Amino acid sequence: MLDADFFRRWMTATAALVDREADRLTALDSPIGDADHGSNLQRGFTAVTATLEKEAPDTPGSVLTLAGRQLISTVGGASGPLYGTLLRRTGKALGDATEVSPEQLAEALRTGVDAVRTLGGAQPGDKTMIDALVPAVDALGDSFAAARAAAKEGAEATTPMQARKGRASYLGERSIGHQDPGATSAALLVAALEEAAG
Ligand code: ADP
Ligand code: MG
Ligand code: MG
Repeated sequence: MLDADFFRRWMTATAALVDREADRLTALDSPIGDADHGSNLQRGFTAVTATLEKEAPDTPGSVLTLAGRQLISTVGGASGPLYGTLLRRTGKALGDATEVSPEQLAEALRTGVDAVRTLGGAQPGDKTMIDALVPAVDALGDSFAAARAAAKEGAEATTPMQARKGRASYLGERSIGHQDPGATSAALLVAALEEAAG
Protein backbone atom coordinates (compact mmCIF):
# COMPACT_ATOMS: atom_id res chain seq x y z
CA MET A 1 0.00 0.00 0.00
CA LEU A 2 1.08 3.57 -0.70
CA ASP A 3 0.83 6.16 2.07
CA ALA A 4 1.26 9.94 2.24
CA ASP A 5 5.02 9.48 2.69
CA PHE A 6 5.21 7.61 -0.61
CA PHE A 7 3.45 10.50 -2.37
CA ARG A 8 5.76 13.04 -0.71
CA ARG A 9 8.76 11.00 -1.88
CA TRP A 10 7.24 10.95 -5.38
CA MET A 11 7.10 14.76 -5.47
CA THR A 12 10.60 15.12 -3.95
CA ALA A 13 12.06 12.65 -6.45
CA THR A 14 10.35 14.52 -9.31
CA ALA A 15 11.82 17.80 -8.07
CA ALA A 16 15.30 16.22 -7.98
CA LEU A 17 14.97 14.80 -11.50
CA VAL A 18 13.65 18.13 -12.81
CA ASP A 19 16.63 19.92 -11.20
CA ARG A 20 19.04 17.46 -12.77
CA GLU A 21 17.40 17.65 -16.23
CA ALA A 22 16.36 21.33 -16.25
CA ASP A 23 18.95 22.40 -18.81
CA ARG A 24 17.98 19.57 -21.12
CA LEU A 25 14.26 20.40 -20.83
CA THR A 26 14.95 24.02 -21.64
CA ALA A 27 17.20 23.02 -24.56
CA LEU A 28 14.37 20.87 -25.97
CA ASP A 29 11.98 23.82 -25.59
CA SER A 30 14.35 26.07 -27.53
CA PRO A 31 13.89 24.94 -31.19
CA ILE A 32 10.10 24.34 -30.89
CA GLY A 33 9.12 26.67 -28.04
CA ASP A 34 10.35 29.57 -25.92
CA ALA A 35 13.18 27.89 -23.99
CA ASP A 36 11.60 28.03 -20.54
CA HIS A 37 10.30 24.52 -19.82
CA GLY A 38 13.17 23.52 -17.51
CA SER A 39 13.04 26.75 -15.51
CA ASN A 40 9.23 26.66 -15.38
CA LEU A 41 9.18 23.20 -13.82
CA GLN A 42 12.17 23.87 -11.59
CA ARG A 43 10.38 26.85 -10.08
CA GLY A 44 7.19 24.82 -9.75
CA PHE A 45 8.59 21.70 -8.12
CA THR A 46 10.87 23.69 -5.80
CA ALA A 47 7.71 25.41 -4.56
CA VAL A 48 5.93 22.05 -4.31
CA THR A 49 8.57 20.49 -2.04
CA ALA A 50 8.69 23.63 0.13
CA THR A 51 4.90 23.65 0.57
CA LEU A 52 4.73 19.95 1.33
CA GLU A 53 7.33 20.41 4.06
CA LYS A 54 5.53 23.39 5.54
CA GLU A 55 1.96 22.11 5.43
CA ALA A 56 2.64 18.38 5.95
CA PRO A 57 -0.55 17.00 4.32
CA ASP A 58 -1.25 13.54 5.74
CA THR A 59 -3.14 11.66 3.02
CA PRO A 60 -2.10 10.68 -0.54
CA GLY A 61 -4.95 12.76 -1.97
CA SER A 62 -4.06 15.90 -0.03
CA VAL A 63 -0.36 15.64 -0.97
CA LEU A 64 -1.27 15.65 -4.67
CA THR A 65 -4.00 18.31 -4.53
CA LEU A 66 -1.65 20.63 -2.63
CA ALA A 67 1.17 19.95 -5.11
CA GLY A 68 -1.16 20.60 -8.03
CA ARG A 69 -2.43 23.88 -6.59
CA GLN A 70 1.16 24.99 -6.04
CA LEU A 71 2.13 24.22 -9.66
CA ILE A 72 -0.85 26.18 -10.96
CA SER A 73 0.08 29.22 -8.88
CA THR A 74 3.85 29.20 -9.51
CA VAL A 75 4.31 28.00 -13.11
CA GLY A 76 3.33 30.43 -15.81
CA GLY A 77 2.88 28.98 -19.26
CA ALA A 78 1.02 25.98 -20.56
CA SER A 79 2.68 23.33 -18.43
CA GLY A 80 1.71 24.82 -15.02
CA PRO A 81 -2.08 24.52 -15.38
CA LEU A 82 -1.69 21.17 -17.20
CA TYR A 83 0.58 19.50 -14.62
CA GLY A 84 -1.36 21.24 -11.84
CA THR A 85 -4.60 19.78 -13.15
CA LEU A 86 -2.99 16.34 -13.51
CA LEU A 87 -1.94 16.24 -9.85
CA ARG A 88 -5.02 17.97 -8.45
CA ARG A 89 -7.46 15.72 -10.26
CA THR A 90 -5.44 12.59 -9.47
CA GLY A 91 -5.41 13.64 -5.82
CA LYS A 92 -9.11 14.34 -5.81
CA ALA A 93 -9.77 10.88 -7.29
CA LEU A 94 -7.83 9.29 -4.41
CA GLY A 95 -10.28 10.80 -1.92
CA ASP A 96 -9.32 10.90 1.76
CA ALA A 97 -7.91 7.38 2.16
CA THR A 98 -4.74 7.21 4.27
CA GLU A 99 -3.32 4.44 2.06
CA VAL A 100 -4.03 3.44 -1.54
CA SER A 101 -3.09 0.44 -3.63
CA PRO A 102 -1.01 0.72 -6.82
CA GLU A 103 -4.20 -0.20 -8.73
CA GLN A 104 -6.07 2.71 -7.12
CA LEU A 105 -3.19 5.01 -8.04
CA ALA A 106 -3.32 3.80 -11.65
CA GLU A 107 -7.06 4.43 -11.83
CA ALA A 108 -6.77 7.89 -10.23
CA LEU A 109 -3.93 8.85 -12.58
CA ARG A 110 -6.10 7.91 -15.52
CA THR A 111 -8.72 10.34 -14.22
CA GLY A 112 -5.99 12.99 -13.95
CA VAL A 113 -4.72 12.35 -17.47
CA ASP A 114 -8.28 12.54 -18.80
CA ALA A 115 -8.66 15.94 -17.12
CA VAL A 116 -5.45 17.13 -18.84
CA ARG A 117 -6.86 15.94 -22.15
CA THR A 118 -10.09 17.83 -21.55
CA LEU A 119 -8.29 21.00 -20.46
CA GLY A 120 -5.67 21.08 -23.22
CA GLY A 121 -7.62 19.34 -25.96
CA ALA A 122 -4.60 17.22 -26.97
CA GLN A 123 -4.99 13.71 -28.34
CA PRO A 124 -2.29 11.05 -28.50
CA GLY A 125 -0.08 11.88 -31.50
CA ASP A 126 -0.34 15.66 -31.06
CA LYS A 127 3.24 15.83 -29.69
CA THR A 128 2.54 16.79 -26.07
CA MET A 129 2.93 15.42 -22.55
CA ILE A 130 -0.12 13.26 -23.34
CA ASP A 131 2.10 11.06 -25.54
CA ALA A 132 4.13 10.04 -22.48
CA LEU A 133 1.30 10.03 -19.92
CA VAL A 134 -1.19 7.81 -21.75
CA PRO A 135 1.20 4.86 -22.33
CA ALA A 136 2.50 5.25 -18.77
CA VAL A 137 -0.98 4.96 -17.29
CA ASP A 138 -1.68 1.96 -19.52
CA ALA A 139 1.48 0.22 -18.25
CA LEU A 140 1.02 1.17 -14.60
CA GLY A 141 -1.13 -1.90 -14.00
CA ASP A 142 2.02 -4.00 -14.57
CA SER A 143 4.62 -2.15 -12.50
CA PHE A 144 6.22 1.23 -11.86
CA ALA A 145 9.20 0.03 -13.90
CA ALA A 146 6.95 -0.78 -16.87
CA ALA A 147 5.29 2.63 -16.59
CA ARG A 148 8.69 4.31 -16.51
CA ALA A 149 9.81 2.51 -19.69
CA ALA A 150 6.51 3.22 -21.46
CA ALA A 151 6.70 6.94 -20.64
CA LYS A 152 10.29 7.19 -21.87
CA GLU A 153 9.37 5.40 -25.08
CA GLY A 154 6.30 7.62 -25.48
CA ALA A 155 8.42 10.75 -25.07
CA GLU A 156 10.96 9.53 -27.64
CA ALA A 157 8.16 8.72 -30.07
CA THR A 158 7.21 12.43 -30.19
CA THR A 159 10.32 13.28 -32.25
CA PRO A 160 8.85 12.48 -35.70
CA MET A 161 5.45 13.94 -34.82
CA GLN A 162 4.12 17.30 -35.99
CA ALA A 163 2.86 19.39 -33.06
CA ARG A 164 -0.85 20.16 -33.04
CA LYS A 165 -1.09 21.83 -29.60
CA GLY A 166 0.84 24.46 -27.71
CA ARG A 167 3.57 26.80 -28.95
CA ALA A 168 5.28 24.09 -31.03
CA SER A 169 2.16 23.88 -33.22
CA TYR A 170 2.87 27.41 -34.52
CA LEU A 171 5.87 25.89 -36.34
CA GLY A 172 3.77 23.48 -38.37
CA GLU A 173 5.98 20.97 -40.17
CA ARG A 174 9.11 22.56 -38.72
CA SER A 175 8.17 21.04 -35.36
CA ILE A 176 9.01 17.60 -36.81
CA GLY A 177 12.36 16.11 -35.74
CA HIS A 178 12.46 17.44 -32.16
CA GLN A 179 11.47 15.60 -28.98
CA ASP A 180 8.67 17.34 -27.11
CA PRO A 181 9.85 18.97 -23.86
CA GLY A 182 6.58 18.32 -21.99
CA ALA A 183 6.54 14.64 -22.94
CA THR A 184 10.14 14.47 -21.73
CA SER A 185 9.30 16.01 -18.34
CA ALA A 186 6.23 13.78 -18.03
CA ALA A 187 8.58 10.80 -18.34
CA LEU A 188 10.57 12.20 -15.39
CA LEU A 189 7.40 12.43 -13.29
CA VAL A 190 6.68 8.77 -14.06
CA ALA A 191 10.29 7.70 -13.45
CA ALA A 192 10.08 9.33 -10.01
CA LEU A 193 7.28 6.91 -9.05
CA GLU A 194 9.71 4.03 -9.25
CA GLU A 195 12.27 5.97 -7.21
CA ALA A 196 9.65 6.72 -4.54
CA ALA A 197 8.83 3.02 -4.33
CA GLY A 198 12.54 2.42 -3.66
P1 ADP B 1 4.93 27.28 -22.66
O1 ADP B 1 4.74 26.58 -23.98
O2 ADP B 1 3.75 28.11 -22.28
O3 ADP B 1 6.23 28.03 -22.59
P2 ADP B 1 6.16 25.10 -21.22
O4 ADP B 1 7.34 25.36 -22.06
O5 ADP B 1 6.40 25.06 -19.76
O6 ADP B 1 4.99 26.13 -21.53
O7 ADP B 1 5.51 23.69 -21.62
C1 ADP B 1 5.43 23.26 -22.95
C2 ADP B 1 4.89 21.85 -23.00
O8 ADP B 1 3.52 21.84 -22.59
C3 ADP B 1 4.87 21.24 -24.37
O9 ADP B 1 6.12 20.62 -24.67
C4 ADP B 1 3.73 20.23 -24.32
O10 ADP B 1 4.17 18.95 -23.92
C5 ADP B 1 2.84 20.80 -23.25
N1 ADP B 1 1.60 21.33 -23.82
C6 ADP B 1 1.42 22.53 -24.41
N2 ADP B 1 0.14 22.68 -24.80
C7 ADP B 1 -0.51 21.53 -24.45
C8 ADP B 1 -1.86 21.06 -24.56
N3 ADP B 1 -2.82 21.81 -25.12
N4 ADP B 1 -2.15 19.82 -24.08
C9 ADP B 1 -1.18 19.06 -23.49
N5 ADP B 1 0.10 19.46 -23.35
C10 ADP B 1 0.43 20.67 -23.82
MG1 MG C 1 8.02 26.98 -23.08
MG1 MG D 1 6.65 29.99 -21.87
